Amino acid sequence: MSIAFIGLGHMGGPMALNLQRAGHAVQGFDLSPAARAQLAAAGLPIAADAAASVQGADIVISMLPANAHVEALYLGHGGQAGLLPQLAADTLVIDCSTIAASSARKVADAALAQQRGLRFIDAPVSGGTGGAVAGTLTFIVGGDEQALEQARPVLEKMGQNIFHAGGVGTGQTAKICNNMLLGILMAGTSEALALGLANGLDPRVLSDIMRGSSGSNWVLEKYNPMPGVMASAPASKGYAGGFGTDLMLKDLGLAQDSATAVQAATPLGSLARNLYAAHSLAGNGALDFSSIIRMLQKR
Ligand code: NAD
Repeated sequence: MSIAFIGLGHMGGPMALNLQRAGHAVQGFDLSPAARAQLAAAGLPIAADAAASVQGADIVISMLPANAHVEALYLGHGGQAGLLPQLAADTLVIDCSTIAASSARKVADAALAQQRGLRFIDAPVSGGTGGAVAGTLTFIVGGDEQALEQARPVLEKMGQNIFHAGGVGTGQTAKICNNMLLGILMAGTSEALALGLANGLDPRVLSDIMRGSSGSNWVLEKYNPMPGVMASAPASKGYAGGFGTDLMLKDLGLAQDSATAVQAATPLGSLARNLYAAHSLAGNGALDFSSIIRMLQKR
């Protein structure tokens, strides 16, 4: 299978390498020279631009930050042509970015309007940078059954679980519900750890106790926000890498947008969005989102 992989950041880089290791012919591209250089050094062929990366590709995968990037890539922006007209007939497009369901549907509709057999699925992921490196991501797919079955062997090289949420856009809706919960869990877990610490507890001991008790959750299992508790977590690497505060802020904003659209009550999601927004405004947008604990810690 010949695959174009566009967006070689924290997630896309290791995902593209896993596809290459599995024997696929992968051509990567990223707007950032640093990302291109890093992946080229790891042995990934890098195309001169996005249009060159899709030449001869059966499948195009994108892993970009937000709505605007995905729409600009496929539909064009500021007089620059989009990628859709440049794809060969019958190409499958898999967008793994976390974006609004409405944005995913917009690109899918434009692909369909080409009338050249182009197919689109939204396939946002869960599992973090650790999951991207290990090839153990969870894919949450929106799109028709046939397109998912075509994508499945490729998704299986990057992930362990594949869920089919429904039609185009539903993968994004499910992902946003999950990330709203994750943002709340990270803030709540940080609050409990900071409280214990301020009262003299060792964060490792408290984390072990809560992991084995009713407060247990994914943050305590895989992503402890206290430096030194979990060697592999971004907290132990100065909150570098991982899932940026600004990306979490974007996802919590998407959750609020979809709550507003259907008049849903999401009080904790709204509070979490404001906490991450304040954390970002204080200059922490590029740090991993687990750095929210710094806002709650006694100094
Ligand atoms: P990132 O910022 O590290 O990487 C995104 C890359 O896209 C950057 O290298 C950027 O230069 C590139 N890019 C932007 N526009 C481009 C374009 N038009 N053409 C080519 N390259 C372009 O972000 P990330 O952490 O890899 O996250 C990517 C997506 O995955 C986001 O939507 C995020 O919400 C989601 N996500 C991230 C994580 C995580 O733990 N980091 C987990 C799950 C989902």
